[in-house]
Amino acid sequence: MSDSHFARQLQREVRQRRTFGIISHPDAGKTTLTEKFLLFGGAIQQAGAVKAKKATRHARSDWMKVEQDRGISVTSSVMKFEYGDCELNLLDTPGHQDFSEDTYRVLTAVDSALMVIDSVKGVESQTEKLMQVCRMRSIPIMTFINKLDRDGREPLELLDEIEDKLGIQAVPMTWPIGMGKRFQGVYDLINGELRFFETAENKGARPREATVVKDLESEELDRLLGETAANELREDVELLSGAGYPFDHEAYLAGKQTPVFFGSAVNNFGVQELLDNFVRLAPAPKAREAETRMVAPEEPEFSGVVFKIQANMDPDHRDRIAFMRICSGKFERGMRVRHHRLKKNMQLGNAIIFMARDRAGAEEAWPGDIVGLPNHGTLKIGDTLTSKEELKFLGIPNFAPEFFQRVILKNPLKSKQLEKGLAQLAEEGAIQFFRPITGREFILGAIGALQFDITAGRLKTEYGVEATYEPVQIYAVRWVESENKKQLQEVRKKYHNSLVEDAQGAPALFFPTRWRLEKAEEDWPEVRFTHVKEH
Ligand code: GDP
Repeated sequence: MSDSHFARQLQREVRQRRTFGIISHPDAGKTTLTEKFLLFGGAIQQAGAVKAKKATRHARSDWMKVEQDRGISVTSSVMKFEYGDCELNLLDTPGHQDFSEDTYRVLTAVDSALMVIDSVKGVESQTEKLMQVCRMRSIPIMTFINKLDRDGREPLELLDEIEDKLGIQAVPMTWPIGMGKRFQGVYDLINGELRFFETAENKGARPREATVVKDLESEELDRLLGETAANELREDVELLSGAGYPFDHEAYLAGKQTPVFFGSAVNNFGVQELLDNFVRLAPAPKAREAETRMVAPEEPEFSGVVFKIQANMDPDHRDRIAFMRICSGKFERGMRVRHHRLKKNMQLGNAIIFMARDRAGAEEAWPGDIVGLPNHGTLKIGDTLTSKEELKFLGIPNFAPEFFQRVILKNPLKSKQLEKGLAQLAEEGAIQFFRPITGREFILGAIGALQFDITAGRLKTEYGVEATYEPVQIYAVRWVESENKKQLQEVRKKYHNSLVEDAQGAPALFFPTRWRLEKAEEDWPEVRFTHVKEH
């Protein structure tokens, strides 16, 4: 293939890709929406397929068994499907008890996110947490307000809440007409079209295709919606045009504005418009920052970065799957690459690509795609692989844990095994740990409580470590950094008893209360107490 032909193909492949995650609080409708997307994409034939997967995922014992039967431990972490001219890579950001550091880290591998909000409940805690990460990375967010078939909160109130709690301008693209039993459909504010919600009762009574409304003042609108609903819509639209901001694509791409769509996922209403707008507006893979320079996806040389490791739950097979996002060039089966951290060459023989229903050997893949690489510990989170140049991608951070447990060994002679086990689990990103400067104990840190169970289980089965785990009263841990060495020294002295080191030996502080943390920030203005540490 000639160089220019290859360059054109690469450009086309990059332009077609949308790599994204769905962020939401449990039960807002993420799974339902995913399923409808896959149906539209033709990746699954019937509803229920994703549900079944989810059920097994949450019943942990079943899950482990299923995984053991399959030999490797990958559920629906990544799904690839096509829609129109686009190739979509949807990355799972688990909620519930599965919520963990991985959930955050996955967001470093996406180019944009879709936020699902339950119209009855509004913005909930998990969404806020995930949004913090999106904002940190300036990830563009599109919003879907779901469950309009139920009596929910006022749409204007919901938009206000998004702005207040999430700190992002919310720009409605569609507007709901009524809700709950009175829900009639949405008005497309951009194209001036009405789309009717079809229920079992009113089926066939209204046009299925979008109806263009040239003039909101026309009597036609009263006829279509009834006078009350028509007047409400007129008032709302007038209010919006006065108060709202116009949609600005650049502001969306910069993560400053979120376009908002209304609908009902379970009724498949508003989903196709959402998906159409998503592929139209969401960004294709972008340039990514490496230590030495920015790397554009259209560069012909291959590069990729590992952002997630999933270990096998089966102790007989110690292999792990490293998830790599392709950042530039073309991936080919069996290609030889440079492993930047180990300064070694390696061959990528058995890469896997994950589809909605199954997985397959990856013959080729392009920027934005995610491939799974089975390995025995050679690949770690943050590792960069390239076809030639020595590169190191940035931006796979550690997030400060929010839950803490102390490890108490049942047999003190096993401390070597504990140390080794924890070091490896921390490298995988399964758990974080800290050691007080003044003591020899290990304090585990997690973002989701399930991480503790998994760590305890794996320490026992894989490393023969029997231990008990005690909760510790810690409000927060913060890494401490400063260019002002004197202040840093003073901080270390003052907080000697709460000074700890993380797995890589970086200094951090435990704070027992929020007040103590705020006091420290006030007292030492030149010291950064950060909750994010770049790898
Ligand atoms: P997830 O936890 O975010 O993945 O949420 P699910 O997709 O599992 O949905 C949670 C519940 O809400 C399920 O019982 C769905 O059937 C229901 N649900 C999803 N979308 C809608 C909707 O548009 N309207 C109503 N009434 N229920 C919905």
